[in-house]
Amino acid sequence: MQDLWQLQEEALSRFASLDSAHALEEAKARYLGKSGAITERLKALGAMPPEARKQAGALINQAKSAIEGALEQRRTELARIQQERELAATALDVTLPGRTSGQGGLHPVTRTLERIESIFHGMGFTVAEGPEIESDAYNFSALNIPSDHPARAMHDTFYLAPGYVLRTHTSPVQVRYLETHALPVRIIAPGRVFRCDSDVTHTPMFHQVEGLWVAEEGLSLAVLKGLLSEFMRRFFERDELATRFRPSFFPFTEPSAEMDIGCVICGGAGCRVCSHTGWLEVLGCGMVQPKVLAPLGIDTERYTGLAFGLGVERLAMIRHGVDDLRTFYENDLRFLHRFA
Ligand SMILES: [Zn+2]
Repeated sequence: MQDLWQLQEEALSRFASLDSAHALEEAKARYLGKSGAITERLKALGAMPPEARKQAGALINQAKSAIEGALEQRRTELARIQQERELAATALDVTLPGRTSGQGGLHPVTRTLERIESIFHGMGFTVAEGPEIESDAYNFSALNIPSDHPARAMHDTFYLAPGYVLRTHTSPVQVRYLETHALPVRIIAPGRVFRCDSDVTHTPMFHQVEGLWVAEEGLSLAVLKGLLSEFMRRFFERDELATRFRPSFFPFTEPSAEMDIGCVICGGAGCRVCSHTGWLEVLGCGMVQPKVLAPLGIDTERYTGLAFGLGVERLAMIRHGVDDLRTFYENDLRFLHRFA
């Protein structure tokens, strides 16, 4: 049985020299497989005389369990080596900077909107809201813009189902509010509006703040001018800010005016932003057209109203020196971080 001893030693040293689980299983077959060296010896026992068989069987089984034990030990070792290799490959570099959770900030348009609301709130206005999908009647007809009126063409409207549009201004909130509230009213209506237009100074969605003040007495063009001039001084934080009102036309106000402020970039000397005029157009306004108030049952001999509408992005652009309106909506963090 000298060769059995050699066989066992050979198996043990072979197992110890192998460094892959696959090679180890192949080596196992060589000794313990169906026609492995140990298996063959066990098969040969049948041809031996009983006494010799018993002795030889014991020795073979001894060798077999030694080989099996060595095999199992090497399996465990290889598994541990493999695990160590994997851990080394995915080792943590504790010197790497950690992943911080980025700190968010309010969008510049939201900040501007909050600033506008805060200033008007200080002037006695409350906030009113209305739907973004608006009926043709509220968006146009109730504001003295009948279906054949050329002003409709100027609005670049997104038409939805027949009779409905994406509101082109927040002015319909005026009508909705007057329908449901007793006079006097003093509101601003901030919100998203939609027009089919896109270039450096237009985006299909933008924000407006509409203002409406209807009262029995005391309202006049002079009050309107004083109110809006004061608002602009507060908004741009200038104690001295030149303003001017140019006659204009809106179907829902009479008389109507465009308001300009002295250019806050060049101080009126003339620059690219103000097209070298020294003035920046900031909003449209006027006294509420009696044709808007009368259908709501308001006695236009007793009550007068003033109204104005301003573009939030427009004011944000002027205040922050932004020259392309579209950058507000491109979600470029380098741009947005400047305001955070
Ligand atoms: Zn200028």
